[in-house]
Amino acid sequence: MTDGELGGDGAKVETRCGFVALIGAPNVGKSTLVNALVGSKVTIVSRKVQTTRALIRGIAMVDYAQIILVDTPGIFAPKRRLDRAMVSTAWSGAHDADLVCVLLDAKVGLDDEAESIFGKVRSVDREKILVLNKIDLVAREGLLALAKLANDRLGFAETFMISALSGDGVDDLRSALAKEVPAGPFLYPEDQVSDAPMRQLAAEITREKIFRQLHQELPYQSTVETDGFTERKDGSIRIEQTIFVERESQRKIVLGKNGATIKSIGAEARKELSEITGQPVHLFLFVKVRENWGDDPDRYRGIGLQFPKE
Ligand code: GDP
Ligand code: MG
Repeated sequence: MTDGELGGDGAKVETRCGFVALIGAPNVGKSTLVNALVGSKVTIVSRKVQTTRALIRGIAMVDYAQIILVDTPGIFAPKRRLDRAMVSTAWSGAHDADLVCVLLDAKVGLDDEAESIFGKVRSVDREKILVLNKIDLVAREGLLALAKLANDRLGFAETFMISALSGDGVDDLRSALAKEVPAGPFLYPEDQVSDAPMRQLAAEITREKIFRQLHQELPYQSTVETDGFTERKDGSIRIEQTIFVERESQRKIVLGKNGATIKSIGAEARKELSEITGQPVHLFLFVKVRENWGDDPDRYRGIGLQFPKE
């Protein structure tokens, strides 16, 4: 296979491809920016590539460049153990990425949370790009002052001022990212950057919400499968998923008292899914106990079989 070449009729075109980590406090507009960069073609894929541990939120294609946007969930001061685990995953995503985009909410500026993120980003040995988002909410002078302040703190290679919501400045940012990602072959075939993996992404999103809600009570072995993903005539999407746990006691935990936990997991997942797809989502969650025959030596013994060594 020839690396980084594309084009028919013997034409050689250099392709570029890389991971871009979006880092910023909650609500700075990371999800909105992913949607804006990816554009109208929903090009969301789930995590498949082993080199990064963070969740891939979308792939933006610019001519011969593939920009793989890696979300970094929950970069905030972690209190609980699981939160800490998620945060360290987020940071490892940043270290694995080719480029790091640090987002600031232009209206909020460099508050304590942003300062603490800056402190950590400093040790990430990657090219950093500053993105001031929500410029629609502030006056120009304020923006320039904030850009200067942030650049004094951290050596950014470039600064962009955008409104992820209105799309202002997003094209420039996308083109810059396309130039900055390293030369190399596409990691995702162009025709695969499409809708099929949405089912997987949908399952990952629900799983993430289960983690967030259940913290240490979390049934580690739980998995989520998307059984149905149908677009309806009214433009909404119907998604059916099954959450598999290993024991009845775990099923009760996931359901919660009077179904309160599953309801709230469903509400969070549905919100994010509809943000990502830009369509109303009807989400139906089922919880089932799937006893794990393959991994449980007792089960094999119980029916008089040897547990396979491999
Ligand atoms: P995330 O938590 O970083 O992923 O942030 P979101 O993308 O969910 O955005 C948080 C809120 O900020 C949402 O209500 C967005 O609509 C809003 N938002 C995002 N970008 C902009 C922007 O450029 N301008 C304005 N006015 N609001 C924005
Ligand atoms: Mg988000």
